[in-house]
Formats: sequence, structure tokens, C-alpha cells
Amino acid sequence: MGLLSQGSPLNWEETKKHADHIRAHGIIQFVNIYNKLKDRQKDVLKWGDEVEYMLVELDDKDEKVRLSLNASDVLDTLQGQGEKINPNHPTLWRPEYGSYMIEGTPGQPYGGTMSEFNTVEGNMGKRRREASSILNQNEILCTITSFPRLGCPGFTNPEYPPTPVESGVSKSLFFPDEAINIHPRFSTLTRNIRHRRGEKVTVNVPTGLFSTGSKSTCWVSVFRDKCTPSPFVEEFPEDDGESARAALPDHIYMDAMGFGMGNCCLQVTFQACSIDEARYLYDQLATFCPIVMALSAASPFYRGHVSDIDCRWGVISASVDDRTREERGLEALKNNKYRIFKSRYDSIDSYLSKCGEKYNDIDLTIDESIYQQLLGAGIDKLLAQHIAHLFIRDPLCTYKEKLNQDDENESDHFENLQSTNWQTMRFKPPPPNSDIGWRVEFRPMEVQLTDFENAAYVVFVVLLTRVILSYKLDFLIPLSKVDENMKVAQKRNAVQEGLFYFRKDIFKSCNPGLDSASSAQNGLETDCTNEDYTLMSIDTIINGKDGVFQGLIPILNCYLENMEVDVDTRCTILNYLKLIKKRASGELMTMAKWMRDFVAKHPEYKQDSVITDKINYDFIVRCDKIAKGEEQCPELIGKPVNKFK
Ligand code: GLU
Ligand code: MG
Repeated sequence: MGLLSQGSPLNWEETKKHADHIRAHGIIQFVNIYNKLKDRQKDVLKWGDEVEYMLVELDDKDEKVRLSLNASDVLDTLQGQGEKINPNHPTLWRPEYGSYMIEGTPGQPYGGTMSEFNTVEGNMGKRRREASSILNQNEILCTITSFPRLGCPGFTNPEYPPTPVESGVSKSLFFPDEAINIHPRFSTLTRNIRHRRGEKVTVNVPTGLFSTGSKSTCWVSVFRDKCTPSPFVEEFPEDDGESARAALPDHIYMDAMGFGMGNCCLQVTFQACSIDEARYLYDQLATFCPIVMALSAASPFYRGHVSDIDCRWGVISASVDDRTREERGLEALKNNKYRIFKSRYDSIDSYLSKCGEKYNDIDLTIDESIYQQLLGAGIDKLLAQHIAHLFIRDPLCTYKEKLNQDDENESDHFENLQSTNWQTMRFKPPPPNSDIGWRVEFRPMEVQLTDFENAAYVVFVVLLTRVILSYKLDFLIPLSKVDENMKVAQKRNAVQEGLFYFRKDIFKSCNPGLDSASSAQNGLETDCTNEDYTLMSIDTIINGKDGVFQGLIPILNCYLENMEVDVDTRCTILNYLKLIKKRASGELMTMAKWMRDFVAKHPEYKQDSVITDKINYDFIVRCDKIAKGEEQCPELIGKPVNKFK
């Protein structure tokens, strides 16, 4: 989840004093990188995936499952027997927010050849087996986006009571501080977000998930089943009054960063061949974020309840929302500089390529003096406003020992703000003095249950980048429409029921001329009128519909036909695309739908939206068997041939 440094982190009061210093040097660091590397060309296409995992303890006697808080030991062992002794080890392991989470990536990035698509699932399998092999007997590794009983009494092993007092980290009524990773970055982020905001974070799990008005929270309503009490109101005996004020009736109320950042996702990072190609890809992929997120929907349950949403996005967004009441528009500006429209974890606010410029229709709050400074340094308007927008935020976690930096050779201050702007896409400048190029990260996907599915989603997205670059496709629509798509994407069953704005003629592109992003003039623009895009179902977007849109899968298939691909790889890719195709058409369920179905059919479920310990146990046991390939689940996955076993 970003930069990990060693040292003594500063509390919010101290961090605040250094905020301008950090921003000023962060900008100098960015300008230095830009000037050194803006003309860098011909980096080869490389990419890699990141999978986040949860460690779960099975208590077969009591039929309970709990999150195991031993991720740091597990991580030490994995790194100690892996990357620390062998630089070519096939897997890399990193900490994540929860002390029950780890993150795994391939040891080396994948390159540009087609046959590498055939190794992704195998590498994911290696990761799963490697981590599983060092767990205790009754522990398992799970790729589930949200743990259904996260924040319910006794959900961790060892068990800890929450500490809902001011001196606590989260001050949560539900989420104990011990469930936060022990690396000080994570507790510092948590506490400083709360202190900056001036109150606990508030997640009310769905309408108006993206606050563009005065609402600052994510509204996660409880799914109204036959016997769900109405109104659905909970009491919080430990509360000092703060939660009672924040919790809404008929919503699942949550009050800690862990409810969001304690969820798992699947990300892909691409290295582009130049900064302009990276900017073009950033924009194009941004339009896919809501679509692919809805297709990957896997998180319908929160704090032991069935919610009315299928994706984690808005929950995480609210869980790290450090904006003050003034910034959220609830009070007149007095102590803060700006009204800020979104959380730090949210969808992107501006396109970066010249082609995207005319679709930048979201109100963009920027730091004006940083913007001018960047323009003065020769950076074009689009990139300058992007950075000046990221830098309206304050740093959240700063180390005393790292305040003074060598701006020519370090980038910690830039990364400090960059890595705590958690957006759907991330534009990543090369680290100083490295051979890494300009990169973009695709961040909206929910993690899937099996390596097969995760590989399928990753390969699907990578293939999309290939066709976008090879055919110079243009998927851009006004960015405000992408935001509307983000709202729709999280709703229950959005894959079947949602309608999404999508471009009709993707071949009629603004010349993405990879030289155009930073050069001022480009004559070949087409005007985007309402005619250029229309509302489509995910089925139409993915599989096509006569007279409306040709469909992404048909386009990918056409691309594959023109590529030299060995038969085995071809077969693997077809299996992956089949999964995506069938998820989009509804022939196969999304994970979210399958989870709802599982609970609805469980004999202990009382149609009251409550997920009991026993339901949770049976659910996780079933997930584990499917993930290990011991049981089939044709309604979710179909019947792919598993060649990696
Ligand atoms: N776990 C977070 C999510 O589900 C992402 C954290 C990260 O940036 O690695 O989106
Ligand atoms: Mg991560």
C-alpha cells in the first residue's frame, strides 16, 4: 500500500507543521525526475500484477473462522526464504494494511511476449502454495475481497477487544488496533487521518456513494430481506456519542480505516515505452475502471451483514476520508484552504493526454502556486494540474529522520503524497536512478477466489492495453460520465442491471499520436457530442450488440487472430476470455452474486441480512476448497481445464 520507510513517524500536529516543506520538496523532486526522464523512450512493455491475501484460521470444533493476526511473521518467513536469499525468486511478498494481510507479486515483471500470458496463473499458484505451505495447520490463505464478519465480536485470532477511546489508533467500536499491521506507517496513517478529519471516519454502507455534494460518507445500506428489522437500527453501548451521531438507520455503520483498507484487491501495473504512451494508457484505462470493477464485484458483506452494494470501492473511500467538515462543505471555510470534492481514495479527476483534455469536465481543485511553479518549470498544463491536484492533500505519514532529503536523488516527499492519493488509476514517474520507466497502475479490481479467475482478469486488462496501443483506439468519454459509471458499478448486480456510458465508435479516435500529449497543438481532434457515447449494459460492452457496439471480446479475438500465439497459450487465453464473456452475459455469476446466493441458501440464514459465525465458517470452508481446486464451482467459474495443478 505504498512507501514503507523506517524511522519515527510524526503525529498529526507535527506533520502539519512540515506539510508545506514536504509538498515543496515533493514538487522539486517531481520536476527533477521529469526533467531527467521526460524524453526517455523505448522502454519495453512490462507489466505485473499484485494480489492481496487474507490469513484465516479455521476452528473446525466451534465452526468459526477468524482472521489470523500473524501476517508479519508469515511475511518475514516468506521474504527470508525467498527474495532475501535469491534475487531471482519467483515471488515477492509485501505487507498490507491488516495484520492478517499479505500482498504477493511475481518476482520479475512480465514482458511483451504472448507466451507470458501462459505463466501468470502458474505464478499465482506458486504464490498461493508458497504462502500456504508455511501457515499453521489450521490456517489458510484466502483471496476474498472483504471478510464477511470483519469487525464482528471475536473476528481475530488472537482475540482483542476494540479500544474505542481517544488514545486508541482507530478509536473504533469494532476494529481492534491489533488488527492493523504493526509497521508504524499503518497506524500512523490511521491515527493521522482521524486527527486531521477531526472525528472518526464514517462508513455507512448505497445510494450516493460518491460525494459530490455535501455528503461525505459512503452510504452502505443493509440489504432488505424479508425479516430484516425495519428500521434497521443498532445500538453501540461503548460509544461516547460520536458513533450515534454518525450512524444512519438502515445502514451498516463502520468507523475505522480497517473496514476499507482491510479489504483485498487485484491490481496491474504497466510500464509504457514513454511518458506520452503512459499518459495515453492512463486515460484510456480510466474509462474501463467502473466496467471491470463491476465485472469483478466480490464484496457484498460488511460487519456481519448483507449490504446493498457489491463492491468495496465506496467503503474504502470513506474509510480513509481525512477531509475536515470545511473541506467537505459542511461548514464555511475558515481553517482550510479548499473545498475538496472527493476522498483521497476515489476515482481520478482529470485525464492526462491531449486527447483527454476536452473531456476534462470535473471541477478540479488545484494548488494554484504549485500549478504555476510546474508550468514555470516547463511542464504542460495537463500534467501540471494533475500534480497540483494531488498536492492539495496534506502528507499523512512522515518520518522525522526523512524530513531533509537530497531532492536530486530521492523522491520520498513526492511519493508521500502520490502514494496516499489512492485513485482508480495511478500515474507513476520512474524512481530516481533506476532503470524503471513511466508506469500506470490499474487499481479498481476486486480480488477473485481462484488463481484462474485472477489470471483471467489480469490477462483481460493487459490484452486491452495491447489492442488500445496497436489499433490506437479511443474509449474516452467525459470524465464526469466515468464517475457516474463508478456509482452504478458498485450497486447490487450492476453487471446484469447497470447501464454504463460507453463510447460507440472507438476507432474514430482523436489522433492519440504518441507525440501529442505534451506538445501544444494537435489538429486532429473530433468533437465529442452526445452522439459519441451512449448507455450500454456490460454485456453489450464486453460481448457486443449489433448496431450498437462491436464488443471488447470480439475486438480482442480479432487481435489474437492476427498474432502469432502458440496453441497452448491461445487455449489459456480463450479460457480466460470465456470467463469474462460469461460473467458479462450473466451465464456465470460474479463472486458477489455467488456469495449472496450462498448465504440466501444457507440453512441457518434467517432472511434477516445477518451472517452468523456458522454461515461465515461454511462460506470460507467452501471458498477454500474451490480455491484449492478440491471442489468445482461451475456456476461461478464454469469448467475450465486446470493445467497448472
Ligand atoms: N487494498 C486496497 C484496495 O482494495 C488497495 C491498497 C493498495 O493500494 O495496495 O483497493
Ligand atoms: Mg496493496
